[in-house]
Amino acid sequence: MNTIPAGDRTLGHAVVLGGGFAGILAAGALAPYAETVTVLDRDEPHVAPQRRRGVPQDRHPHFLGPGGAELIEALLPGVHTALWAAGARRIRTTEDMLLYLSAGGWLPRYRTERFGVACSRSLLDHVLRERVRQFGNVGFRGGCLPTGLLGDARAVTGVTYRDLRDHEGRTPGARGPAETCSLPADLVVDATGRASRASALLAGLGVGEAPLQVVDAGHSYSSRVYRARPGAERSTPLVLIQAETGPGRPSGNGALLPIEDGLWIVTLGGLRGAAVPDSEDDYLGYARHALGTPLLADMLADAEPVTAVLRSRSTFNRRHRFDRVPGWPRGFLVLGDAATALNPVYGQGLTVAARGATALRATLAAGEPVTRRLQRAVARSALLAWEVSTRQDRRFPHTIGPAVGRIDRLAHGYADRVMRAAQSRPAVGARLIDAMFLAAPAVRSVGHPMVALAAALDGGAPHLTTPPLTDRERSVLTGGRR
Ligand SMILES: Cc1cc2nc3c(=O)[nH]c(=O)nc-3n(C[C@H](O)[C@H](O)[C@H](O)COP(=O)(O)OP(=O)(O)OC[C@H]3O[C@@H](n4cnc5c(N)ncnc54)[C@H](O)[C@@H]3O)c2cc1C
Repeated sequence: MNTIPAGDRTLGHAVVLGGGFAGILAAGALAPYAETVTVLDRDEPHVAPQRRRGVPQDRHPHFLGPGGAELIEALLPGVHTALWAAGARRIRTTEDMLLYLSAGGWLPRYRTERFGVACSRSLLDHVLRERVRQFGNVGFRGGCLPTGLLGDARAVTGVTYRDLRDHEGRTPGARGPAETCSLPADLVVDATGRASRASALLAGLGVGEAPLQVVDAGHSYSSRVYRARPGAERSTPLVLIQAETGPGRPSGNGALLPIEDGLWIVTLGGLRGAAVPDSEDDYLGYARHALGTPLLADMLADAEPVTAVLRSRSTFNRRHRFDRVPGWPRGFLVLGDAATALNPVYGQGLTVAARGATALRATLAAGEPVTRRLQRAVARSALLAWEVSTRQDRRFPHTIGPAVGRIDRLAHGYADRVMRAAQSRPAVGARLIDAMFLAAPAVRSVGHPMVALAAALDGGAPHLTTPPLTDRERSVLTGGRR
C-alpha cells in the first residue's frame, strides 16, 4: 500500500503523542517519510472497535463531513472502501441528509458529488488505525504518559514518558508502578486532544506561552443509541437540527446519525442553562419541545433504546495560538484538538484534524523541515472552522467570549440570508454545505458572488417549513406522523 519510495524517508524516527483521530492521521501522514513512527497513548491500542477512556466523546455522534472524508482518502488510499466494508454509511450531500437550519426552515435534498462518513467513533478510529498499521513501520504503544520533551528551546529531539505497563505489557492504571523512559525522535507531534499538555511540555524547554482564546456557549450534549426502526436499517438519512438564533426561538439542537449494525446514535443538546436531559426521563419530551422541529421526537417515539443517556460538556471552542509563539522549536508540532478544539455541534473537529495532518504530509512531501512555518499552516487550516463555530456561538445570549461587534452582526445577517436562499436554490445550498463541512474555501463557498447575489435577492422568510421526507421515509421513519 505504501507507494512512496524509501529514498524519500527524510526522517529517522517520529513520535506521535496521542493515538486518537489526529494522532492516527499524523502517523499515516508520516509513515511514508519516516523510517519508523511510534504512537504513544495512555490507552491500550485496541485491535477491535472499542470505546476508550481517553476518547470519552466516542459515546456521542461523530459525523465526518465531506471535507474530511476527501482528505482521509488522500492520506490513506483505500480507507473509504475499508469503512464501507466495516459497515460505515456513505452520506451523500444533501440527498441523504435532513438539515434544519438555524435561520429556520429545511434545506432541500439534492445530489452533489460530495459525501461524508457515518459510523461510530470507535469504528472510525479502528478502521483508520488498521489502515495505518499496513504501512508496516508504525507502532502503537499504550500505557504511556508523556512527561517532558528532550532537546532545548531551539529543537525538540525526543520525549520522556512514564511507562505504566507491567512486565507482561498490561497497563495497571495511572497510579501503578511506572518507569520513566526516554525516546529520541527527529519529530514529536502532540495530538493528545483537549487534554493536551503541550504548553507545559514546551515551558519545560523554556519556550514562551502560546496566547489562548476561548469562546464558550455552554453547550451540552446528551446522547443515546437506538436500534433503527424496522426497514430503516440501511436507509436512514442523517438528521441535523441546528439551534435557532432568533429571539424567543427554540435553542435546542439535535442529531441522529445512522451508524453500523443497524443502529442510530442520537444526541440532544442545549445552551448554558437549558434543561438538557441527563437521563431517559424526559429525553423524548426535550426532543419534542426544545427543538425547532419535532421530527426527532417522532422518529424516536417507538424506537428501541439500547444504551443509557450519556452527557458531554466538552464543547467550548479553544485555540492555543502556537503559531504566534516566537522561537518555536524545530521538530515539534501540535495537531487536532490539542491546537484548536471546536464546539462539536458544527461537526468540524475531525475535518480540522485531517487538514492538519494533510499540512504535515505536504511539508514532508516538499522535503521541508518541521518548523513554526508548519504550525502556522496548521493554524490557517483551522481558521475557517474557528470563524464559523465561534461566530455562530457568539450569537447566543450567555456565551462567554468576545462581544459581538458590527462586523459580526453583518456576518450573522448574511449567514441567515444565505440559509434562506439555500432553501430555494440548490446551487446555494451546495455551497452552504461546502462551507459548513469545510469542503471548499469561503471564497468558493458562501463568499462566492453567485451566493452573495442570491442572498441579496432571496433572503426573506424560510421557504421549506416541513421536513423534505419521501413517502417511504415518512412511513418508515415516523410511522406516518410527519
Ligand atoms: C460530544 C462530542 C461530539 C463530537 N462530534 C463530532 C462530529 O460529529 N464531527 C466532528 O468532526 N467532530 C466531532 N467532535 C470533535 C472530535 O471528537 C475531535 O475534534 C477529535 O476527536 C479530535 O481528535 P484528536 O485526535 O485531536 O483528539 P482525541 O480524539 O480526543 O484523541 C486524543 C488522544 O490522546 C490520548 N491522550 C490524551 N491525553 C493523553 C496523555 N496525557 N498521555 C497519553 N495519551 C493521551 C487519548 O487517549 C486519545 O487517544 C465531537 C466532540 C465531542 C466532545
